[in-house]
Amino acid sequence: MKIELHAHSREVSPCGYLSVEELIRLYKEAGFDALVIANHFSRKAMAEKSETPEAFHALFHQTLRRAERLGREAGLLILGAYELRFDLNDNDYLVYGMTEEQCRDCEALFSSTPEKFGRFARENGILFYQAHPFRNHMTVTAPEHLFGIEVRNTHPRHDSRNDIALTWAEKFGLHQIGGSDCHRVQDVGTTAAETEYEVKNSADLLHVLKNDLYKIV
Ligand SMILES: [Zn+2]
Ligand SMILES: [Zn+2]
Repeated sequence: MKIELHAHSREVSPCGYLSVEELIRLYKEAGFDALVIANHFSRKAMAEKSETPEAFHALFHQTLRRAERLGREAGLLILGAYELRFDLNDNDYLVYGMTEEQCRDCEALFSSTPEKFGRFARENGILFYQAHPFRNHMTVTAPEHLFGIEVRNTHPRHDSRNDIALTWAEKFGLHQIGGSDCHRVQDVGTTAAETEYEVKNSADLLHVLKNDLYKIV
């Protein structure tokens, strides 16, 4: 199976150009079997897209539910994740396996820290990765707080220094993921996770990620 682990839709991500309809069509055309929509979950996205934290939480998950339904009709598995940013700095973190309930208090989450959230993630079976950790303006996160890092981010308008990320992951034994960080048409499917395992739902995806049953191609 060919899976995109990192894509944005414009309904929730202020920097996204593609609607969920467009994402589904484009990823289907690109030969993908599954697409993880990992929209920005940050105070900035919240401020730009909604009036209240509750409204942002609802928009985030309603968009995902709608994408899941449209994906089913189109024959593309849609799964959800979060690109979480704390108020602390400009780092972004990819979070897989967090439930709607666990992030209901958006503001508490934004004011958290990698240390606190990392502990929460470990206790709750949530996978916590730093996205593109060696782009400009990123701050090193202590490896012990993380499950892994993104070692291949193919966003064409940033230099993610993937070679350094890979070296870092190997040095500290961090799990390695990769994604296109898709925001626009030209970003679609420039990298993928490939697995022999048949992913049918979020639990399957977590199993595959947790046990490294994929390769980044
Ligand atoms: Zn973005
Ligand atoms: Zn992103």
